[in-house]
Amino acid sequence: MGKKVREVLKRVKKKHVTKQAKGPRTKFLAREPYELGDGITQSLLSSFLTCRRRTEWELEGWRPVGTKQAIWFGSLFHSLLENLCIQIRAGGIGPQDADDFFEEFIEPWIKKHTKRASFDSPKTAHFLAAQAKAVFAPYCEYWEEDFNRTWLETEGVFDTVVDMGLHDYRLRGRRDGIEELKKNRLRLVEHKTKGQIPEKLSDVLLFDFQNLFYLLTLNVDLTTMFGKKYKPVVDVLYNIIRRPGIKLKNGENLKHYTERIREAVTKDSASLAHYFKRNELIYPLKDQALFRDELKFQLTEFRMWRAGTMHTFRGPSSMCMPGWTCQFIDACAYQTMDGYQQNGILFEELMD
Ligand code: SF4
Repeated sequence: MGKKVREVLKRVKKKHVTKQAKGPRTKFLAREPYELGDGITQSLLSSFLTCRRRTEWELEGWRPVGTKQAIWFGSLFHSLLENLCIQIRAGGIGPQDADDFFEEFIEPWIKKHTKRASFDSPKTAHFLAAQAKAVFAPYCEYWEEDFNRTWLETEGVFDTVVDMGLHDYRLRGRRDGIEELKKNRLRLVEHKTKGQIPEKLSDVLLFDFQNLFYLLTLNVDLTTMFGKKYKPVVDVLYNIIRRPGIKLKNGENLKHYTERIREAVTKDSASLAHYFKRNELIYPLKDQALFRDELKFQLTEFRMWRAGTMHTFRGPSSMCMPGWTCQFIDACAYQTMDGYQQNGILFEELMD
């Protein structure tokens, strides 16, 4: 590891540059049922709006056996970017340090998740690390400007009570980043790792549920978090990193695999643009107000469903593979929970 990166890491530990909110306590859903007072995340509500069957199983703690590699690649890349931003805030790190930084980061990450048995085999953790390493340094070079941005928060957990007229609701989540722009403006940053990027994505993003949900809570919390310095937030940077689809060959070692992916990623400017995409979006306040009105009805439906006054049924099958495949397809198709275990934790994505 480079001496410079080591020095920055020491400084980061001393300065605690990012004050992070605490994630929720561990609640095993099979033992302690979900209650409305636990709060609602955007993923829980979107799941409810598309398929109540899926949501019920999720809230009962059912999870498929085995590692979902796409989800874990996303989780690894999010952690990488979070730590990178913390160090950018501490100063003294540049895109040229990306590989050193990765080496320093990855071993503790693998240890932590192998210990928690997050993966079906330790090999999976090393395989995902090989993919992430291939993409990370090119990403840092491609978005070199990120090293000069002012990051105010990274991976901040929020827990915001919002007044929705008849009822207050506890809305929860984890924002990937908040960046300071010029003229007292802030920008919400969302990272996504994707295998496929749909053609009409930029249009759909203009009314994206997650972005609007996060803007709503950020604007409710804005003064508490930052005083009166900033205007209501309307800007979002939607940052997509494409997960490599290149397969490991029979007998190939992971070092060679990493090199092969990196060659493909950095082949030319078209290839880099294929792997790294950003959408800069503006959500005018009138659009945010419309979202808030709609959300009120969606939350009311969710409340009634939890109270048992609305039925649970499967959603239309077009919702079973909307860009990703629902993890409960086997359960729905064959009416059995074989291949699932009831070990889910509530809001695991918010935990540290
Ligand atoms: S497979 Fe389709 S119907 Fe079944 S839970 Fe998933 S989204 Fe709902």
